[in-house]
Amino acid sequence: MTTPPSGPLDFTYETRPARVVFRPGASVTATPGEVARLALHRVLVVCGGRGTEAARAVADALGDSCVGVHTGARMHVPVEAAEEAVEVARAAGADGCVAVGGGSAIGLGKAVALRTGLPLIAVPSTYSGSEMTSVWGLTARGVKRTGRDSSVQPRCVVYDPDLTLGLPVPLSVTSGVNALAHAAEALYAPDASPLVSLMAEEGVRAMAGALPDVAADPGDPRARARALYGAWLCGSCLGATTMGLHHKLCHVLGGTFGLPHAETHTVVLPYTLAHNAPAAPEAMAVLARALETADAPRALQQLAGSLGAPRTLAELGLKEAHLAPAAAQVAAESYPNPREVTANGVLGLLTAAYEGWEPRVENA
Ligand code: NAD
Repeated sequence: MTTPPSGPLDFTYETRPARVVFRPGASVTATPGEVARLALHRVLVVCGGRGTEAARAVADALGDSCVGVHTGARMHVPVEAAEEAVEVARAAGADGCVAVGGGSAIGLGKAVALRTGLPLIAVPSTYSGSEMTSVWGLTARGVKRTGRDSSVQPRCVVYDPDLTLGLPVPLSVTSGVNALAHAAEALYAPDASPLVSLMAEEGVRAMAGALPDVAADPGDPRARARALYGAWLCGSCLGATTMGLHHKLCHVLGGTFGLPHAETHTVVLPYTLAHNAPAAPEAMAVLARALETADAPRALQQLAGSLGAPRTLAELGLKEAHLAPAAAQVAAESYPNPREVTANGVLGLLTAAYEGWEPRVENA
């Protein structure tokens, strides 16, 4: 179990008022009440093409409070998709937005909130954690911009583990490791705090413990609830802190080289942690405790690999010729990281992840 922090206590912790409802069936049983609680009468439900069924069920439950279902969510929120959704919301006279789905659907809801100021309710169906943050993202001509704005933070998050029962195992595993990455980087963030560390440790323990059960029986409601609970905690860590090298690497690999989001997180995380470990011993100790291991990077790689996740960046479509430019791009940007970021250091990390070598903790 956890132990109180032993070092000097010196931190700032900020949280925004966010209401969370967590219950099997909540997407249809709780969302109408949450819409009413915010005094909304004309909400637009947004989702992606594959999330239409769940979104329609929410819309049906909302009855007259719903003015339509917009199915235009796409990965990384292209500006055109955002503009279209804003148009639909305006034309329908919407007074709020309910995003049902993964990070892409919630991202579209955030884009609508950013442009219109409409309040957003999030009903997540993956473990991406976007629902717990005030971070928005928009992609124009292949370049993804992100920013923080309190107007995009969902006013309420409705977690319904039943919605995740049909999340395919490969996506469950990679989305789960995506969540673990938020908790891991929060542990060594410059704005970390004891509460964030507690949430991170519990989030990692819950998610890592649940994933093998989810993979063995994707329809197991207890395992699904535990995984979603972990995703909530990991997403809360993401919302409360500033991410480092790992998230920057995945952002570049996804944004510039077109690699898929959750899969990239899954392959890269063990290597970033091994790279940062010498400069973040306390974070590594927390992760090791939560994962019940002496070597957190290797344990994470084994966990994901044993559940069938991709192991190399080559498998995800990265070319060897991309390694050096990606490393240079990551090293050129500034963001907080416990270990100094150099192009050579990043190239070594990326090469190991490209080849799928065993992640090795080296001296900084
Ligand atoms: P996603 O939302 O693109 O979903 C992946 C696929 O799974 C989609 O085809 C979707 O339709 C399908 N899907 C979703 N839920 C399902 C379910 N329950 N059953 C079956 N299929 C389902 O992917 P994601 O990993 O959830 O989110 C990734 C996106 O979110 C990226 O664009 C990323 O940048 C963004 N994101 C943003 C933040 C933030 O704080 N702003 C945080 C995390 C991720």
